[in-house]
Amino acid sequence: MSQKKLTTDVVVIGAGIAGLWLHHRLNQMGFHALLLENKTIGNAQTLSSQGIIHGGAKYALNGILSKATHAIGDMPARWQACLAGTGDIDLTPVKVLADHQLMWSKEQLSSKMVSFFASKALSSRMQSVPKSDQPTLFQDPNFKGALYRLEEPVLDISTVLTTLAQPWQERILKIDTLSWQQTNQHVQSILINGDIEINAQQFVLTAGEGNQTLLDDLGIKRPAMQRRPLQMVMCKAKEPAHSLPAIYAHSLGSGSKPIATITSHLNDDGNIVWYIGGNIAEQGVGKPFLEQCSDAHDLLLDILPWFSLPDLEWATHNINRAEPKQSALSRPDTAFVESKNNIHIAWPTKLALAPDLADKIIEKLKYSSLVAEKHKEVTGLTKAEISPTLWDSKFK
Ligand SMILES: Cc1cc2nc3c(=O)[nH]c(=O)nc-3n(C[C@H](O)[C@H](O)[C@H](O)COP(=O)(O)OP(=O)(O)OC[C@H]3O[C@@H](n4cnc5c(N)ncnc54)[C@H](O)[C@@H]3O)c2cc1C
Repeated sequence: MSQKKLTTDVVVIGAGIAGLWLHHRLNQMGFHALLLENKTIGNAQTLSSQGIIHGGAKYALNGILSKATHAIGDMPARWQACLAGTGDIDLTPVKVLADHQLMWSKEQLSSKMVSFFASKALSSRMQSVPKSDQPTLFQDPNFKGALYRLEEPVLDISTVLTTLAQPWQERILKIDTLSWQQTNQHVQSILINGDIEINAQQFVLTAGEGNQTLLDDLGIKRPAMQRRPLQMVMCKAKEPAHSLPAIYAHSLGSGSKPIATITSHLNDDGNIVWYIGGNIAEQGVGKPFLEQCSDAHDLLLDILPWFSLPDLEWATHNINRAEPKQSALSRPDTAFVESKNNIHIAWPTKLALAPDLADKIIEKLKYSSLVAEKHKEVTGLTKAEISPTLWDSKFK
């Protein structure tokens, strides 16, 4: 069989947020980078995410400013600059679903919590919302709890993916198979689809959960990966005329994690879908569909007791978070990259940290003496397409 040969400066494997952000930056900087995807762009964790550009407030609910709160604290401002067209990447076409998030408790908070939220460290990230500025859902006289505003935007991730991919779509390839040609963990080239050899100076693995198979094939044992599963829940009104209100909010209980995080997304028929994560998704792993939906229904009745829920249709979504291994399966705090010669293994650990991860990888690539060379543009190969959203594919 005759082999086709391609050359590029950097091969990036996996077109989720991590791969797309890095690929866009490298090409924008004048390098030639190819992004390889074996399914559709964004299909895995990225389009399963709630699109929240966290600033770390939810990691401070135990009353302590943790490492995670510091690591992610700059991300909302960094994304806001991109959304305004003044950051690393021009994200002006992205649809902003909400320019801030809310956090509510159905009862008044303890005075200790109120003082902590008002402290110097947190007051720039969250402010109490006066009754007159509360959205309609919380204007009800039966709502007696606390409501805070978090300076964390919520984005329509589908439009983020289109905006990142569109300028460089000729360099984003759909592949079926991939094998490595390496000596002593230094990769010379990869063979895609059995008959196309791609030579590059550097190779970056941003394949999320798929990094595990790539590492196994390369014979690399460290870094190890962990999976933290979730069973997310979606619901929408059976009758479009009784559509749910748009809400982007964490519901606070007595624990250190939100009981539920609700984001709202428009599906094909113009109806709002509530996408529900938080504790309910962590504790729902392995539960049968009906049990998870019934638990979610009970939860909504409990956290929004004054709101009369319409008749609802339900769906669930099982998905693993893929991250560098931590002790006791805990949540990693920062974006992660580790290099083995010219192979760089990366997980952002949060969508919001994708810009930070790209910085870290670019540092590593510069340290590896990456040079921008001239390469022919790729022709005649299949380009990867953007995945449909969950709200469109789950409710048919
Ligand atoms: C339910 C859920 C909600 C979340 N909500 C938020 C949130 O609101 N805010 C936030 O900051 N973070 C959130 N996160 C975390 C965030 O989504 C992830 O950290 C981030 O999307 C990971 O991006 P990624 O590019 O590393 O991986 P993925 O998005 O998983 O992308 C990996 C890509 O690699 C491809 N791939 C795999 N194997 C191969 C191969 N062999 N060859 C080629 N391609 C391959 C896959 O098909 C996929 O497209 C959430 C995560 C989950 C699961």
